[in-house]
Amino acid sequence: MPSLDDRYAQLVTALRAQADLTDVIQLLEWDQETVMPAGAIDRRARQIGALAALLHEGQTAPRFLALVDQLSADLPRLAPEQAVDVRETKWRVDRQRRLAPGLVRERSTLHAQARAVWVHARRHNDFATLAPWLKQVVEIERRVAAAIDSSRSAYDVLLEEYEPGTTAAALEQLFGVLRQGLAPLVGRLNARLAAGPLHTDALRGEFSIEAQRRFNRAVAERLGFDFNKGRLDEAEHPFTTCVGDDVRITTRYASNDMRYALYSTVHETGHALYEQGLDSEAWGTPRASACSFGIHESQSRLWENRVARSQAFWQQILPLAYDLFPSLRKQSLHGIVAAANEARPSLIRTEADEITYNLHIVLRFELERALLDGSLEVAALPQVWREKMREYLGIEPSTDRDGVLQDVHWAGGSIGYFPSYALGNLYAAQLVEAAEAEIGSIDALVAAGEFGVLLNWLRTHVHRWGQTFRPADLVRHATGRPPTPAPLLDYLEARLAFLESI
Ligand code: ZN
Repeated sequence: MPSLDDRYAQLVTALRAQADLTDVIQLLEWDQETVMPAGAIDRRARQIGALAALLHEGQTAPRFLALVDQLSADLPRLAPEQAVDVRETKWRVDRQRRLAPGLVRERSTLHAQARAVWVHARRHNDFATLAPWLKQVVEIERRVAAAIDSSRSAYDVLLEEYEPGTTAAALEQLFGVLRQGLAPLVGRLNARLAAGPLHTDALRGEFSIEAQRRFNRAVAERLGFDFNKGRLDEAEHPFTTCVGDDVRITTRYASNDMRYALYSTVHETGHALYEQGLDSEAWGTPRASACSFGIHESQSRLWENRVARSQAFWQQILPLAYDLFPSLRKQSLHGIVAAANEARPSLIRTEADEITYNLHIVLRFELERALLDGSLEVAALPQVWREKMREYLGIEPSTDRDGVLQDVHWAGGSIGYFPSYALGNLYAAQLVEAAEAEIGSIDALVAAGEFGVLLNWLRTHVHRWGQTFRPADLVRHATGRPPTPAPLLDYLEARLAFLESI
């Protein structure tokens, strides 16, 4: 029998072989979303399906499983870092080993096909074409959840894929507090809107795409994005992909409004900074993998909202912006900050302001949970969507394109993903509060262009831990208390008060 250290080394070797396959799949998916011609989709879906099956084969190979099980039995004798890798690998392996290779292939192929149908359906405002595919997705996700653990609700099982240790019941409670706390803020937003126009046009106008490309690249770089190990490209629905040491972000340009690209870019930069801050020595292992989707989202939201929508950020970035967009010189700083923080109930989640954003998530959480437990039919989605929008935000979309068709998640099989966005907001506010206690005012650092001080704090307290802690424990470790909505509600109240004052 090889020594414990030898067996741990075997585990790392196996995990790295799996990471190589994952990287190739990511690269194919990145290609599909950015530059692949539409006609290539069927064979591409097959390619991704084939690699996913190969990956699953490695992850479920009897020798690999035996190694994980043996190491798991020796957990108390392992060094703490080794124990993290074994614990998390065992957890993931136990989920995956319950899925038959045929089901994995079928699921992965279906997701790729449904994503492509979604692109078409969204463009043509054609929910009817997508509906049968969504139905298939819901059915296959139910089968997957039942195969992993039939004793728990399908939603809880799927949710853990994104936020280990969280349950629908816990979310219901947390989101309940958020909804209650947000209601008066939405009321103030509406009162403000009723009182007169918001004057948020300062970042609208004509901004050449070429100048925007340079601006966005410079902003990402200034925040700390390493272009030696990353790219910035364009995609319909901005996202971040990791291909080993190569972290790729995407954005979407609109020539008449520079906010689209800027805030997409900064959001994805936040994701990328997290990936670039993971422990590269431990690559391929859970210690060098992101903690959860919610923690990931906390990083993107923190840079996008707390940093890049602040007055301090604009003070710092304006000289560069003036160079590239001379027409901005006509605008006042307060006008620009107001434009960066345009807040009103709106239809599109990705364009929603910070205050109403979480209500978009509550809506999706409720719908996807109902889809899975069978209390809501796919065919009824557009109608129920409109009703809930009316109830939570007081508005409803006139087309499905601006309603149920706006997000790729469900078509792509990501059911249980949406809550991580609201959790991300919540974690971000709590992390900032803890960071400020140590490194002082974030606004002061941002105004001075010292983005690296904040980045270092995040690297020390969040990034470098990978999956050493589960999300709620990581938050407790970094901030001294479990996840709580108070810092987010306090922060949103303060930002709204500032907007009301300018
Ligand atoms: Zn994100």
